[in-house]
Amino acid sequence: MSLKFISFAGAPRERGRQHGEIMRSEIGENAEFYLKRFCAYGTDQKTVQSEAECWLSFLEKLSPEYVDELRGVAEAANRPVETLTMLNIRHEIWLRLMARRAVDLSNLVLDGCTSAGLMPDATGEGAAMLAQTIDGQAAICGTLFVGKMPRGNTVSWLGIFEAGSVGPTAGLNEVGIGLVCNSLLTAIDGRGRMTAPYKLRSRSILEARTFDRAISVIINTDPIISMNYLIGHAQGEIISIETSPNAKRYLYPEHGIITHANHFEPGGIIASEWERFVPDSPFRSRRFARHLRSKLGAIDVDHILAGLKDHFSYPASICCHPAEGSWPNSTLAAVILDLQRLTLFATDGPPCGAPLQRFELST
Ligand SMILES: [Zn+2]
Repeated sequence: MSLKFISFAGAPRERGRQHGEIMRSEIGENAEFYLKRFCAYGTDQKTVQSEAECWLSFLEKLSPEYVDELRGVAEAANRPVETLTMLNIRHEIWLRLMARRAVDLSNLVLDGCTSAGLMPDATGEGAAMLAQTIDGQAAICGTLFVGKMPRGNTVSWLGIFEAGSVGPTAGLNEVGIGLVCNSLLTAIDGRGRMTAPYKLRSRSILEARTFDRAISVIINTDPIISMNYLIGHAQGEIISIETSPNAKRYLYPEHGIITHANHFEPGGIIASEWERFVPDSPFRSRRFARHLRSKLGAIDVDHILAGLKDHFSYPASICCHPAEGSWPNSTLAAVILDLQRLTLFATDGPPCGAPLQRFELST
C-alpha cells in the first residue's frame, strides 16, 4: 500500500473536486463504514443526516471556504454534501448524538494515537520534530492520503487527511508550524452548543503564520469534544494543549521531549474517561518517551520510527493491530514531521509493515 498524494490547485471548489475525484472510492468506503457504525450503536440514518445538515449550516457561517471545498468533494465523489459533512464532523456528530452512551461505546468508534514533540536540541540535526501514530478503525485502513495546499490567501501547507475530510489530521506549513493530535474523552463531551469542529481547527492551525495565531485557534472558543493538540514551531517551540469542553491545560517538553496518548496527563483537574475503555493509553505515552530519550541529542527519523513500531502489549500496542472480537483498531499511519526541512514522512498502514514515504512542501 502507498499513500496517494494530491497537489491541490485553484479555488476551494476546484480543490474539493480534485480531492473527490482522486479519492472517490475511499470516500465511498468511509461513508458507508461510518454510517453503518453509527446506526449499529443506537442512531439511524435520518438522524445522522439531520445532524449533518445542522453542522453544514453552522459551518457555512463559520467558514464558507471550508464548505465550498466540501461541496466540491461531494460533487466529484458523487455523494450528498451531508455525507461529506458527516465524514468531516464525525467525532462531534457521534458524541452529540450518543451523549452518555457514546462515552461507553467510544472505544468502538473513536480513534487512539500516540504522539511526540521534540525540541531541536533533542534531535540529531537540530530540527524541531513532531510524530504520531494515527490509530482508527481497521476497516478504513488504506483510505488516508497526503495533500499539499497552495498558498492562496495564507501560507502553503502539507497535511495527512482522511478521505473526504477537508481538514487534516496532522501536518506542517511553510513557516514551520506543525500539528499532531490525540483524541481525549470526558463525560461532558458532545453536550454543549456547536463550536468550531476539530477538523476545521486543525486546518486553521496549519493556515496560521505565527505561533500565537495557531494557539488561538484552540483557545479562543471552547470545543465541543476533547482533544490534545500538540503544536510545534521550527524555531524550537512546542506546546501540548489538552482541551475539554470546559477546561484547557498547557504541557511543555521536559529535557526536549514531550509525549502524549489518549488520556489527560496526571496532575490536572480534568476527569479523563478514555482509559477506562482503552487501558493501554497510560503506558503508551511513557514508553514512547523512554524510547526517544535513549538517543537524546541524536534522535532522527529512524529512531522515532522504531518507537512508533513498538509492539509491547500487542495488539493494544503503540503500533496497534485489530484482534478478532475484542479490539477493532489498527494503526492507520505513522507520521513524522521535520519542521526545519518542511518534510512529512508517513506510512500507509501500521509502520511495522508499511514503508515510510517522504513528502516535501517545497516540491
Ligand atoms: Zn505493528
